[in-house]
Amino acid sequence: MLDIGMIRERAADFQEAADRKGIAVAIGELLAVDDRRRALQRETEELRAARNRSSKAVEGLMREGKRNEAEEEKRRAAAYLGKLKGLEEQYREAEREFHAFMLLVPNLISPDTPHGASDRDNVALRHVGLPPAFAFEPRSHVELGESLGIVDIPRGVKIGGTRQYVLKNGGLLLHRAVQQLALDLLLSKGYDLLDVPVMVKEETMVATGYFPGNRDQSYAIAGEDKWLAGTSEVPLVSYYGGEIVDLAAPKLLGAVSACYRSEVGSAGRDVHGLYRVHQFAKVEQVVICRADPAEALEHLERMTACGEELLRLLELPYRVVAVCSGDLSQKNYKQYDIETWMPSRDGYGETHSASLLLDFQARRSNIRYRDADGRLRYAYTLNNTMVATPRILIPLLENHQREDGSVCVPPALRPYLRGMDALQPLA
Ligand code: AMP
Repeated sequence: MLDIGMIRERAADFQEAADRKGIAVAIGELLAVDDRRRALQRETEELRAARNRSSKAVEGLMREGKRNEAEEEKRRAAAYLGKLKGLEEQYREAEREFHAFMLLVPNLISPDTPHGASDRDNVALRHVGLPPAFAFEPRSHVELGESLGIVDIPRGVKIGGTRQYVLKNGGLLLHRAVQQLALDLLLSKGYDLLDVPVMVKEETMVATGYFPGNRDQSYAIAGEDKWLAGTSEVPLVSYYGGEIVDLAAPKLLGAVSACYRSEVGSAGRDVHGLYRVHQFAKVEQVVICRADPAEALEHLERMTACGEELLRLLELPYRVVAVCSGDLSQKNYKQYDIETWMPSRDGYGETHSASLLLDFQARRSNIRYRDADGRLRYAYTLNNTMVATPRILIPLLENHQREDGSVCVPPALRPYLRGMDALQPLA
């Protein structure tokens, strides 16, 4: 949880962050709840001390044989006790209210985050590569998936309902090839690679900042106090939850996992094809580092560069955007997205997200380290998409298609596809 002392000191900044992110939290109300909680705590402690004094006095009076006075003191102690029980209950209730409120407070926003209400206000920082100019009518990834026999959406929907799909033969191989390429890149950069649970406890979702705000975005597991995580960022950050970690060198963690998202609130958006689905695979990066803003910003740039390196290997045109305040989630301090050119959308579509959270997640997850002076401090956390598939198959198929209906496989992927240099349409 954020530090209430800091929220008090920078109340206006936190209110501004909430307003700019479009999160309905009144910091003034939180401070009032905190005042009441502290007052009740003080009162409870004073009353408890008075009752203890009174109980001691009873013992003394009994020892001295002053029975009448002892009886009177006993009545006083009993009255204190009755009042104490009520007060303790009020204090517990105020604590619960305070904790619930604190979980809703957003992270601050970096000073260089652009102002804006939605992703339409994100600011492009650089464009790399040019969208292809086709001398023929290009097909969408849905058409290509069908003609190549590698994507079967109708049967996916038959099996699992809307926003489901089946990848077949070359589709499955491409899906796995991009993941393996991403994992190999992470290995070459010194990342520890983990296979992690994506069935996680409720407290793990809270600790990583996904709950309580985004409960409706996740699938609950019936009959258990567990959820299907929407990203392996959740287990990767939680890997060091509750620990004091040696951060002489940052922790560089990578994982590949299935991701499950209800996509509540996206009804009617991106309903065709592979763009927005309920289940996908993602290779994710998480960095846990010291609470040093300069070091953390460097990691954010480096992580973004990892996604860019992958896209260059895939020979895909993309742009990097600075995510504006209205598109920042509760937990993020600063974020870059990478958007890749998708001919069927006649535009760029988000394929990667890199975020810096400062100590927002580490406080909730209780991840600490000792600084140079031996003091315990909360770490900083960052996360990034190395690759998410099948969304990345959209630009891969659409940008690399050829007039004869085949799709060229970029050289970087061929070693993972037994040297296959193109996907051919079904006869
Ligand atoms: P996020 O973890 O929300 O930052 O998303 C990271 C990446 O996962 C996005 O840039 C997309 O490439 C991919 N992604 C997110 N949600 C979906 C979805 N519902 N369907 C397919 N891919 C998704």
